[in-house]
Amino acid sequence: MNRLKPLVLSLTLALTSLVYAQDVSSIQFCDKQYGMESDSITLFLKVLNSNNKPANINASILKDHLQVFEDGVVIPSEKQEIRQLFSGQRIPPGYTFSVLVDLCIPESGKDQIYEAIGNLLESTSDSCVFLSFFGEEVGKSQIVTKENYPSFKKMFMHTAEEKYFYSALYAKLAEFNWLNAPLIESVMTEDGYATEDAIFVHSREALDKNIMFIFTEGNILPQIEPISFHEVVEFQNDTTLNIPKVYAFFYDAGNGIDEDVELTLRTITQPRLATRQGAYLPSDNIQNVIKNFKEAFQNEMYNFAFTYQVPEDKSYKGRVQYEAFWNDKSFGTEVFSIGTEENEWPKRIQHTSDWVSKYLIALLVTLLTILFFILVMKVLVPCFKSLLFRIKYYNKYKPEANVQKRICHYCRREILPGDPIVNRCMHIMHTQCWKENGFKCAEYGQNCKDGIQDHIDWKGLFSKNTLRDCFQTIAGICAGLVSWIIYNLLGNGTFGALARGIVNTFYSKKDELVGGLTTECITKVSSFLTIGLLLAFFLSLVFRYFDGVRKKDWKSLLKILGWSLVSGIIGMAAFAVGGMILCLLLSPSDTYIPWFYSIPAYLLFSICTSLSLTIKSTIPTKSALLGGLISALIGFFVLYFSAITIARRGWMSMLLDFVIYGGGLGASLVTVRMLAEKYFLVIKNGVKAGQRIPIHKWMNASGGGNKVTIGMTERCEIQMTWEKSNKVAKEHIQLYVDHTRSQAMMKPLATNVVFNSRAELPVNKPIALSNNDTFTVGDTIFQYIEN
Ligand SMILES: [Zn+2]
Ligand SMILES: [Zn+2]
Repeated sequence: MNRLKPLVLSLTLALTSLVYAQDVSSIQFCDKQYGMESDSITLFLKVLNSNNKPANINASILKDHLQVFEDGVVIPSEKQEIRQLFSGQRIPPGYTFSVLVDLCIPESGKDQIYEAIGNLLESTSDSCVFLSFFGEEVGKSQIVTKENYPSFKKMFMHTAEEKYFYSALYAKLAEFNWLNAPLIESVMTEDGYATEDAIFVHSREALDKNIMFIFTEGNILPQIEPISFHEVVEFQNDTTLNIPKVYAFFYDAGNGIDEDVELTLRTITQPRLATRQGAYLPSDNIQNVIKNFKEAFQNEMYNFAFTYQVPEDKSYKGRVQYEAFWNDKSFGTEVFSIGTEENEWPKRIQHTSDWVSKYLIALLVTLLTILFFILVMKVLVPCFKSLLFRIKYYNKYKPEANVQKRICHYCRREILPGDPIVNRCMHIMHTQCWKENGFKCAEYGQNCKDGIQDHIDWKGLFSKNTLRDCFQTIAGICAGLVSWIIYNLLGNGTFGALARGIVNTFYSKKDELVGGLTTECITKVSSFLTIGLLLAFFLSLVFRYFDGVRKKDWKSLLKILGWSLVSGIIGMAAFAVGGMILCLLLSPSDTYIPWFYSIPAYLLFSICTSLSLTIKSTIPTKSALLGGLISALIGFFVLYFSAITIARRGWMSMLLDFVIYGGGLGASLVTVRMLAEKYFLVIKNGVKAGQRIPIHKWMNASGGGNKVTIGMTERCEIQMTWEKSNKVAKEHIQLYVDHTRSQAMMKPLATNVVFNSRAELPVNKPIALSNNDTFTVGDTIFQYIEN
């Protein structure tokens, strides 16, 4: 017998819990709470039975049957804690309560009603309870808060002999709508009924969470009411209107019952639409009235708090999905924002070793990003261009009309029909010869401008040239890294007060106690502002530093610093506007911030930063805009979507966003800057006087080399065919760009080169060229022009 006892006991327990378990039909996730310091998350649950009322179960039953999944992973039972919530606890966000009190109720009753409404206020947020009185006239609805509530005490003390019952019901129902109540003029008041617009505004937050509580008694009605019972009912059943659920607490104080009052209350608490049905709860005992009221609003509350410890190495960055399973059946699901993409949660105390490894990894990631960009710029892009070129211009030779014999411009042999050829320019060549000549036309540089094919220079790939060509990209990536380091040191957001101001102005749900996304919005906007300032400042600093300015004295350095600060402020302002847009986009009933709400902020930032870079610099607007937009978008997608894959090192996505944006912007600037750099030679005298020769296409341009020779032979880029004197050598002068100094240089290869009409230059000794310098070769005077 003794041995059986535990068995029977556990069987009974199992049965009881089974019976209880059947009472549950859905689970709602109402709200979440997570501190910025601790690493536990609390979910507020409403466990409902099949009648949509709070299920009659306790925490231990819930623990036995409930499994909560976070992003598809079950939360282990040893890491969770479930508490049952009782009165005085929170009410989910979005509720609008309109409480209507009959002044005919005896004073002692009103005293207790005053206390009970005070209890309701304790568990709601500060903008959702509206109070009004009715009697010989219908009072205006007023917002009540925990602070101002005591000032209403004296209004409970007013008494009335009779009441305009239908006027009151009509006016209070009408207030949930905007300009849809034709009879509002007839509501019994002294100087016209003024609706409280805040009720309408607040009620839009959640149409299913609008509730009207009426405290009334059965006293006499006036002889003639301006609004009739039927008009109230008709209004309440209009499906186009927003009508709250009505709970009527009828107090029979023994003053006699007007049957109309009772019938009206029964009817308006049970309208035709099931979603609008409340309850009629009469009692002759004021204690019961209060109990009914408490139960009614407790039914709307959360009834459980589910707290769990988050995994030690997990960081939360925005969207988290929860699903509740009851006995392996899905009973409810919800999405919340926990942390933000820019600022992960929780912040854990880091040991020195973690800190060191974090920055080492960051450095490695930066190096890999540089390698990636080099790979793209030096291998993938040329490879793609080369492929396009091959498809377009590598052909089989077809005999042409009016052409007897086609000679290859390289090997001087005849091109036969069917021979593989390259016909990019008018100088048709054998494909083999084209390749032998370094993937360019034999005439390229002299009589031909287009005859060149992009190709991967495998030998040059690992030389200093590559670093030089990708210099601006690398500088941008480094600026990204520096910005990220400072962003980290500043705790991912330093403009809390400013962010709070923006969110309070532009995000409609301001209450912090209950629900909403205020915390997330503030964190996000604060991060936005910091990112804007840092990235724009450092990118501007590096790009402006390397932009054209040759002489760097303290004055020009100060200028660079000043303009970079301006860029930083512009970047910050752009993100501030982006933050406002984010707040405006968020509809108050949202429980999380969708990823695409942040796109306007990033786009705006990129546009404004790019434009700010072009102020007082030679950086061209179009390329800055285009490159900025593309790299900002790629960075954005990396930031928002790597969150899914990188759960452990949340900071990495932010780093990637920073370096990709910097590198991308740098890469876009470098290509255009190459085209934008304009070196010219202008012939000052003789038959060719006034001719401008663009020499920048030979100097510095990728693939075209970095050398311009002037002389008499065909091999020179500039062949001086017009020069009749015999003073010019086969190759007389060489021009090139000294990349380490970003400086155009001239090297005489023969004697008799007069520089600036004064000195004759020694042979083979390079001299730096400045704008407007002149030099003479033979009888021709050249002027060097740099734009
Ligand atoms: Zn050939
Ligand atoms: Zn050609």
